[in-house]
Amino acid sequence: MSNFFWNNKIIKYNSLNKDIYTDILIIGGGITGISILNELANSKYKITLIDKDRLINGITNYTTGKISYLQGNIYSKLYNNFNLNTAKLYYESQIDAINKILNNIKKYKIDCDIEKVKSIIYTKTNKNEIIKEKEILDKLNIKNKLIYNNLGLEVYDTYVFNPIKYLLGILNKINKFVTIYDYTKAIDIKYKNKLYITKTNKGIIKSKYVIIACHYPFFIKPLFIPLKTYIKREYVNVINMTKKYESIINIDDDLCSIRYYNNNLIYGSNKHELYNKINYKNNYIKSINDTYKIFNKKPYITWMNQDIVSNDYIPFIGKIKNNLYIATAYNGWGMTNGVLSSLIISEDILKGYSKYDKLFNPNRINLIMIKNSFLKSFNYLKIYIESLFKKNNPYYIKIKGIIYGVYKDKNNVVHKIKLICPHMKCNLIFNEYDETWDCPCHGSRFDLNGKLIFGPARKNLKDLSNQ
Ligand SMILES: Cc1cc2nc3c(=O)[nH]c(=O)nc-3n(C[C@H](O)[C@H](O)[C@H](O)COP(=O)(O)OP(=O)(O)OC[C@H]3O[C@@H](n4cnc5c(N)ncnc54)[C@H](O)[C@@H]3O)c2cc1C
Repeated sequence: MSNFFWNNKIIKYNSLNKDIYTDILIIGGGITGISILNELANSKYKITLIDKDRLINGITNYTTGKISYLQGNIYSKLYNNFNLNTAKLYYESQIDAINKILNNIKKYKIDCDIEKVKSIIYTKTNKNEIIKEKEILDKLNIKNKLIYNNLGLEVYDTYVFNPIKYLLGILNKINKFVTIYDYTKAIDIKYKNKLYITKTNKGIIKSKYVIIACHYPFFIKPLFIPLKTYIKREYVNVINMTKKYESIINIDDDLCSIRYYNNNLIYGSNKHELYNKINYKNNYIKSINDTYKIFNKKPYITWMNQDIVSNDYIPFIGKIKNNLYIATAYNGWGMTNGVLSSLIISEDILKGYSKYDKLFNPNRINLIMIKNSFLKSFNYLKIYIESLFKKNNPYYIKIKGIIYGVYKDKNNVVHKIKLICPHMKCNLIFNEYDETWDCPCHGSRFDLNGKLIFGPARKNLKDLSNQ
C-alpha cells in the first residue's frame, strides 16, 4: 500500500538504545501521538514518544485530510441512541478540535495548504436520514442548508488540509522540548510501585504516565477493544482534475467521498467492514473501475486504509486506570478526534479534569454498545469459520490438520507461513493486490514472510519458507 501522495518526508530520529525513565510516555506517532506531544511539550513533565516505525507512517499517512464536524449523520445517531445533550457535547468537542488546529497553524506559522470549504453530506436513497440530520442540526443551532432537492445538506466553516505538512510543522517547533525514538515497538506494559514499565524491542521505559496512541491497542485486556469496535476499510483514488465540488461524503452504504488538493481529486470509495468483502484484490479493482466510470479518468494513485469504528459511535479517549490513557476508535474522523484527544488527555494530566471525560470515557459500557457488539460478534464468528473451512483456496495448504499460507512470487520464490494471526487466532487471508497476509478480524497485516506490517498483533509470523 505504497503512498507517495502526501509526500511524507522521512524524519529520522534515534531508536531507543538503553533503559530510560520519562515522566510521560506516548506510544504512537500519528496525529494522536504528535498532537498530545505538542500539548504537553511545554509542561513541567519530561515527555517521550516512541513509534514502532518512523513517525506519521500509520493510518494518518493514508488519510484524506478533511477537517469537519459534519461526519455523516452522526448527530441524529447520537440523538436517537442517547439524547440531544450528547449530540451537543460531541459537536462542541469537534469545534474545539477544529479551533485547536487553526490556532496551531497560526501560532507555528505552518504552511499546510489549509482551505476553508463547505462540508456536504448526501444520499441517493435515504432522504429521510438527511432531513432527520437537518432537524438535529437546527436544534443545535448549527447553520446548515438543504441542497440537491433535499438529498443533500451543507454546513460551513469546515476545512481540508495537508495533514502531513501540518504534523511536520508541529514537530519542527517542538522537537527540542521532547524526546522521540522511532523504530521502537512497545510490546508489553506492567504497573508496579506506582510506575509503568513498558517493555519495547529496544529496552525498558519506566514512566509515571503512559498514553496509548497507537491506533489499535496491542493489548486486549483491560479495555477489550476488539469486542467494542470493528474495522472499516476504504479505497482512495486520485485523479488530476480542477476543483469542481466542495468536500462531500455520502451517508449510503456504498461510500463516495470527495475532496480536492492541488488540482487533484481525492476520491474515497468502496468502504466495507473488514470481515465482509474479503477478496481484497477485487475491492481495489472495483474502486479503480468505479473511479473511471464516474470521472472518466484512470486514477494515478490508489491506496487502501482502515480505521476503527466504535460500536456506540463515540471514540474512546481518556483514562483507562491509574495513569494509563488511550485515544482510539475515531470512526473515520481522526483529524478532529486525534486533536481532541490531545485536549482531553493533556487537561486530565495537567488539571485533573476535562469537560469531555464522561462522553469519551474509554471504560463506558452502554446499551447501544452491547447491542451492536453482540450483533457484530456473529460477523467475527462467520469469518473465522469461513476462513477455517474455505475449500480450494489457492493460497492454503493443509498438512497434518494444520493450515499454512503459501504463495509463489513473480521470481518463483515460495513463501510459507502459519496462517494464524497471533493477536486473536483468526485465520489470515491473502491480499493479492498488496501481496500481504491480512487478518479479516482486527486488521493486522504481515508481509510475504510473516513480518508484521501493522498491528494490533505484536509478533511476526514464523517464516516457514524453507521448510
Ligand atoms: C481511507 C481513510 C480516509 C480518512 N480520511 C479522514 C478524513 O478525511 N478526515 C478525518 O478526520 N479522518 C479521516 N480518516 C481517519 C484518520 O485518518 C484516522 O482516524 C487517524 O489518522 C488515526 O490517527 P492515529 O494517530 O490514531 O493512528 P496512526 O496514524 O495509525 O498512528 C499510530 C502510530 O502508532 C504506531 N504504533 C502502533 N503500534 C505500536 C507499538 N506497539 N509501539 C509503538 N508504536 C506503535 C504506528 O506505527 C503509528 O505510527 C480516514 C481514515 C481512512 C481509513
